[in-house]
Amino acid sequence: MTTAHEVINPATEQVVTSVRLCSVDETDAAIARAVRAQRSWQALAPAERGRLLRRFAAAVDAAIEDLAWLEVRNSGHTIGNARGEAANVRDVLEYYAAAPDRLFGRQIPVAGGVNITFQEPLGVVGVIVPWNFPMPIAAWGFAPALAAGNAVVLKPAELTPLTAVRIGELALEAGLPDGLLQILPGRGAVVGERFVTHPDVRKVVFTGSTEVGRRIMAGCASQVKRVTLELGGKSANIVFADADLERAAATAPYGVFDNAGQDCCARSRILVQRNVYDRFMELLEPAVRGVVVGDPTDEKTEMGPLISAAHRAKVAGYVPDGAPVAFQGEAPAGSGFWFPPTVLTPDPADPAFAEEVFGPVVAVVPFEDEADAVRIANDTAYGLAGSIWTRDVARALRVSRAVEAGNLSVNSHSSVRYNTPFGGFKQSGLGRELGPDAVDAFTETKNVFIPTSADA
Ligand code: NAD
Repeated sequence: MTTAHEVINPATEQVVTSVRLCSVDETDAAIARAVRAQRSWQALAPAERGRLLRRFAAAVDAAIEDLAWLEVRNSGHTIGNARGEAANVRDVLEYYAAAPDRLFGRQIPVAGGVNITFQEPLGVVGVIVPWNFPMPIAAWGFAPALAAGNAVVLKPAELTPLTAVRIGELALEAGLPDGLLQILPGRGAVVGERFVTHPDVRKVVFTGSTEVGRRIMAGCASQVKRVTLELGGKSANIVFADADLERAAATAPYGVFDNAGQDCCARSRILVQRNVYDRFMELLEPAVRGVVVGDPTDEKTEMGPLISAAHRAKVAGYVPDGAPVAFQGEAPAGSGFWFPPTVLTPDPADPAFAEEVFGPVVAVVPFEDEADAVRIANDTAYGLAGSIWTRDVARALRVSRAVEAGNLSVNSHSSVRYNTPFGGFKQSGLGRELGPDAVDAFTETKNVFIPTSADA
């Protein structure tokens, strides 16, 4: 059954457009087209595949403004962020466009002959994308998958399909073969599930909640299907007494409230050494009140709305009446799914400290010493990102090694770069995206032995 889904602008609550959702039969037909397209893609000379990916990158580059404004309307992202997200798609494509004619195997010394390995494509890859960063997360899956010689079927989130659909059109306009990158708007339980169960989809790349990721991994197990999971997070921002407190406090809001906190890498737990806790909170308050929340089309806006009314209700559930609110920033009244930047000082057992809120809510707790900081930081099922603020280089390295998370930054909150690996420890995920090795995750290693003597 085919249905339609109304896309709502989260800043205005106005209907932007309506998008047709794919059925299981349409998904199956798309996968069959992808199988055919993958064969012709694999048969192209590697340099030709690279050339087409560079043309795709150039088409995205020429469309950055259009894509950015589309994302502002669909997702409520600030125009500044949305431009960066569209540019990230271009950068990821350019980076992996260099891969097809550098997809080296190895010659391994063995007795009696020549042994070589090949990195073969998997076939069709299914990419399932969440609503929080529709453009970058799509590209982190499709760009290395295509570069490795695969075809891709991609399901955007129900709430945010528009930029993915446009990127699929740009791929065709750039000359990628028909059927090689197909965007299939649809429900998780319909299109997403079909990627898991269809035998011609050889790998699923899933980004989303840990709950759904667990289910996808279990579903893929029945076909021993390859899977990469990028899941939730509850990352710690650890501030030691010897840190540049002014800078740590000034940047902490942006480490958690960017994209209205709808960021798997949000540093949503701030751990502050007890002897500087009061001073840090004094510095944090004006920084939080200074976050510019409002119309995402305004170039000066730093934080927009949440994605939906249902999501706002979920976030608000972590800040009930009587919650330990230290201070809050501003948020517009009226239409739009707004929620103000909020700082809590909860008990560590409070759900706001333990669970992923995925909104502009941060919990601050004190710690005693380095061991205590590491213990609190690791006291979670997640392990995605984190920050360490200290002037002591040895401590920065020691704590970086001790925190069980995939992406740490020292005296900064940067975490995702297209040229470095990204992914989670523990229940934050499985496998790594981006960086120099991501293409390998979309290949199988094949070993071939050729005897050079009759008795080998
Ligand atoms: P979600 O798990 O509800 O949905 C993610 C995607 O999975 C959507 O496209 C959805 O339609 C699809 N889906 C839902 N049920 C499915 C099923 N049974 N089978 C197949 N597909 C299904 O997550 P969300 O609410 O869209 O996104 C928020 C979550 O994503 C947060 O937990 C966040 O931490 C996580 N996230 C993680 C990363 C990362 O890289 N680790 C990045 C962004 C978001």
